[in-house]
Amino acid sequence: MYVEDDEAILQETAGFLQNYVEKLYVAKNGKEGLELFLDKGPDAVITDFEMPVMSGLEMIKQIKKRRPETPIFVTTSFENDTLYLTRAIEEYGITQYISKKSEPNRLLESIYDYFKNDEQFHFSLNISSSGRVLSIDRRFAFFLGYGEEELLLEPIERLIEPIPHIHNRHFIKRLQDEKDIEYAHCIFRQKDGSDLLLSGSAKFSTSNGKKEFVTKWRPIDSILRSNEEIKERLIKEGYLKSLMKFHAEVSQDIVTAFTVEDFLKGFVEKLPAIGINGLGFLMLMEESALKETFFPSNIDIELDSLIPDFIDLGDLKNERLYLPCFLAAKHNQMVFVDDISHLPETELKKELVKKGIVTAISIPMKIRLKNSPSGILTLLFRENHTFDKEELELWQDIANTAAFGIESIKARIERDELIVKLDMMAHTDKLTGAINRHRGMELLEHEIKRANRYRHPFSIIYFDIDHFKKINDTYGHTTGDAVLVKATQTIRKNLRATDSLIRWGGEEFLIILPETSLGDAIHIAQKLRENLEKRSSDIPLPITASFGIASWKEDQTLDTLIHRADTKMYEAKKMGRNRIAY
Ligand code: GH3
Ligand code: MG
Ligand code: MG
Repeated sequence: MYVEDDEAILQETAGFLQNYVEKLYVAKNGKEGLELFLDKGPDAVITDFEMPVMSGLEMIKQIKKRRPETPIFVTTSFENDTLYLTRAIEEYGITQYISKKSEPNRLLESIYDYFKNDEQFHFSLNISSSGRVLSIDRRFAFFLGYGEEELLLEPIERLIEPIPHIHNRHFIKRLQDEKDIEYAHCIFRQKDGSDLLLSGSAKFSTSNGKKEFVTKWRPIDSILRSNEEIKERLIKEGYLKSLMKFHAEVSQDIVTAFTVEDFLKGFVEKLPAIGINGLGFLMLMEESALKETFFPSNIDIELDSLIPDFIDLGDLKNERLYLPCFLAAKHNQMVFVDDISHLPETELKKELVKKGIVTAISIPMKIRLKNSPSGILTLLFRENHTFDKEELELWQDIANTAAFGIESIKARIERDELIVKLDMMAHTDKLTGAINRHRGMELLEHEIKRANRYRHPFSIIYFDIDHFKKINDTYGHTTGDAVLVKATQTIRKNLRATDSLIRWGGEEFLIILPETSLGDAIHIAQKLRENLEKRSSDIPLPITASFGIASWKEDQTLDTLIHRADTKMYEAKKMGRNRIAY
């Protein structure tokens, strides 16, 4: 019986299956399926999970209640059915799960397989504790291209090369440690040199006083057989999903982070939350050196004392000290260490091993059009973590996004600084560095508005250098310019950061003093006058100025305020210059 609510999938799969089974019953939802099941009593059930009226899970429950031995094959899209799958695994012994993405003949194969004796489709290989082939079944030997006798007492490395395959190395290591293996992948070498990926298990046993490993192998396909494997797959899928979520968050941080440091701190802080047992740190790379290490604040490893702020990649002794990071940076390639206890003895390694770290991977943070990485991301795992292609690609993408983040934040900061600089230039008088009249006018308008709204006082000082014409006439225009520059410097030194010095024109200036009463402004003007007069001069003539002070009064317009300060300044001139008037 085949139950599927998607009309197109139903048509295609049913049409295919029809040719291979004696009788096929089809139903479009769990309720129809259950009725059909009770009516016809099919030998096996193939069903979808998510369906209208009655879900696949509910139907399975009812069927299992009535005929528990019924084999049930579930077609699933692993992405969407994770929740159902977990429940189904835990509550009902589902026979097999077949991805909806597989071809229909996959489904057929798995049904056929089920009805055949499962044992019959395993290859068996017995290995001595010294790693030699004790027996191999004829089919397996044949499958690998050998005669049955040809492999007897041969070292296992002839079939399972430990290098360069991580899985193989892991498998052989476990055998050496005399440990059972529930589930492993290995790449077998066939006689003609081609590779063959098989999955299998190994059991340690003692027969006739001799230690022996009984291993069983079968081809890997899209059909997931045991519940253990499905659980493993689900954990893995959940993990990959969390990586994708992490990746999305990191991408968003590029927009919101103010500095590269903020961005990278956020990046490493999020690291330990993802994965099952993941930890990590990140180093920046600049001109063939690794600089600055970022690691999560809750990492219980003293990384800052173990990794220096500067690791020169040209210095080969650093290669030994920081092997994976060093190589990843130098060669712009991922470096994977399946068991860090194999690394050279260093303080860093000692500490990591002590903290239970087994696997490490260093990933260059690559950016397009740049030959060297922007940094190195190193991930640490507290268990033997194997990476499949999908996970590695995801991590590489994440590392590249981090590199992109670093470069774009840097570029954004540079741009912002340039804008500030251009803005400054547009608002600044070139000769003296004082605010220009245009910007000064805007500031005054702003100050008037603020004063009107909040009733806060402010004052202005208008000043004009005395007998400046004479300076020009005596010493030349260039000296005149220098005197102007020096005079503004003297004035500015005696102002607060919130005050604004504006070059109003020629040798005339205007100062805005926010939050300043007339009394305080008079005091300030006195101080300015004295300092200007006292200031060391390169020319024998005294440099002085005349100051007019005006304080803002309620509802006073800008023009009247400036006019008053200007008038007062002329009064000071008339009274003999080098003085203040208010
Ligand atoms: P008073 O005490 O009455 O202010 O006399 P004064 O000579 O300073 O008055 P006046 O306004 O007649 O002359 C100002 C001179 O300042 C005229 C102008 O050539 C000169 N001046 C204006 N801007 C600059 C400048 O940027 N550099 C130089 N070197 N001179 C300037
Ligand atoms: Mg003047
Ligand atoms: Mg003057």
